[in-house]
Amino acid sequence: MLEADFVIIGSGSAGSAMAYRLSEDGKHSVIVIEFGGSDVGPLIQMPSALSIPLNMSLYDWGFASEPEPHLGGRVLATPRGKVIGGSSSINGMVYVRGHARDFDHWAEQGAAGWGFADVLPYFKRMEDSNGGENGWRGHGGPLSVQRGSRTNPLYGAFVEAGRQAGFELTDDYNGAKQEGFGPMEQTIRGGRRWSAASAYLRPALRRKNVSLIKGFARRVIIENQRATGVEIETRKRIQVIKARREVIVAASSINSPKILMLSGIGPAEHLREYGIPVVADRPGVGRNLQDHMELYIQQESTQPITLNSVLNPFSKALIGAQWLFFKSGLGATNHFEAAAFVRSRAGVDYPDIQYHFIPAAVRYDGKAAAKAHGFQAHVGPMRSKSRGSVTLRSPDPRSKPVIRFNYMSHPDDWTEFRHCVRLTREIFGQPAFDLYRGEELSPGPHVQSDDDLDAFIREHAESAYHPCGTCRIGRADDPMSVVDPECRVIGVEGLRVADSSIFPRVTNGNLNAPSIMTGEKAADHILGRTPLAPSNQEPWINPRWQVSDR
Ligand SMILES: Cc1cc2nc3c(=O)[nH]c(=O)nc-3n(C[C@H](O)[C@H](O)[C@H](O)COP(=O)(O)OP(=O)(O)OC[C@H]3O[C@@H](n4cnc5c(N)ncnc54)[C@H](O)[C@@H]3O)c2cc1C
Repeated sequence: MLEADFVIIGSGSAGSAMAYRLSEDGKHSVIVIEFGGSDVGPLIQMPSALSIPLNMSLYDWGFASEPEPHLGGRVLATPRGKVIGGSSSINGMVYVRGHARDFDHWAEQGAAGWGFADVLPYFKRMEDSNGGENGWRGHGGPLSVQRGSRTNPLYGAFVEAGRQAGFELTDDYNGAKQEGFGPMEQTIRGGRRWSAASAYLRPALRRKNVSLIKGFARRVIIENQRATGVEIETRKRIQVIKARREVIVAASSINSPKILMLSGIGPAEHLREYGIPVVADRPGVGRNLQDHMELYIQQESTQPITLNSVLNPFSKALIGAQWLFFKSGLGATNHFEAAAFVRSRAGVDYPDIQYHFIPAAVRYDGKAAAKAHGFQAHVGPMRSKSRGSVTLRSPDPRSKPVIRFNYMSHPDDWTEFRHCVRLTREIFGQPAFDLYRGEELSPGPHVQSDDDLDAFIREHAESAYHPCGTCRIGRADDPMSVVDPECRVIGVEGLRVADSSIFPRVTNGNLNAPSIMTGEKAADHILGRTPLAPSNQEPWINPRWQVSDR
């Protein structure tokens, strides 16, 4: 019989971290259930190939939003990794912890014990940081973090332009000071993607007490309000994996709420609609869906130094060969090597806009590159007030859920995005870019009025692929909480959720780091360990925040 102390659904960012920590002392057995397959091969391992796996049904679940009413009915792709390592195996490898205030906000929302002081020791425990601020970073942890070589002069021009526009500089946005322009960090090691599978899962699987089962989790088995196992489908057979102690759902912000609902945990009325017996009426399951959106602002480069000259098949083959033999060259980076976190206006106390900068003009998913040489900023607001939901489409576990983001449904989204475009123009207009600046390629110089900008946003804003929040952590007496601060599903014994779905609010940056941190911290709760001692380090807050945006 297939049975373990802990059964984890999903080997993604959080699931892999938990498999590693729960099995570390050798006292407990762990089974990880994962529907996706191997991550071997250059499409996943070569960092610069990042736009390929997210378009492949072999590696991606293939989810999409419903037509988005505020985006002219556009359907947006919602990629989620379906491979060992989960989304950390198909993501952009950008490494951002999030701002200290994000976690303090979580704690204020009822996630007691998840304030910055509490989570900072977990970020340090997970990291093996190369570069970064002394005393603020972790060393010797499983997750390698590095900076790119920044040899292309456009990276330096971007940072210098930020300084010329009067913004702060920061040498480590994952240290005390997130605010400012500076180098971007990457989860890459030795020229290869350093996913949660590389950092955590593979080392865990070398232990005798951990095993990986390839299968599709259909639902959690719950008897007398206690989770006792997971029903899976594997090679057309349905079987049950038994959990002696606990089942932990770590199937992502899209699949975790779906699995809970199929198991009878969710809004009672919605479950009854599909004939699912209600185990726990938790109206918060699938609610609170949020994401980051971004625009690609593209400028022509007058100098032929951008990556647009190597997007042809011949150059790509050369880059691939160099990477294959030496793990070096343009294949060994994700090309996101400069970044900025800035505040949109006076009165905002910590950054609410993120920039990724690349010396190329190309869509993130690789589907359209500019004809000319160009460079581009990915820019977007970080704390949208729009909220959406994940609901069931049918009681059949194989059917994809209904995903409604309600992107841009709050009026502030529009003001914030217009500001993002105008601010980017101001930065690209600084003297640092004089040597390189050609025509604006996108949105294009004709797009100036609020109405023009709104039309551009409606047509071109894209997901930054950070959905979260659908099994929110909170106080046990809050009806909209799904899990308590120890990640226990409220109303059911022996069942936890720990992944990006538990975030009360999206963090200020990309979500791999906080998802892994969630797995790290949840593991301590599951084992009943005393959490790591809180830190007394204080983040840098701009002393001018009340009077200036810079
Ligand atoms: C294209 C893309 C680019 C991104 N870029 C970045 C970036 O550059 N930097 C960054 O920090 N973040 C980035 N992110 C976001 C980040 O990677 C995710 O937020 C994070 O990995 C989520 O972790 P998770 O543990 O919640 O879920 P996941 O990592 O998605 O793990 C869930 C796992 O559960 C498995 N699973 C789900 N359902 C079942 C089932 N029924 N049965 C069996 N297995 C199941 C999945 O296959 C998957 O392996 C990106 C995401 C995407 C998709």
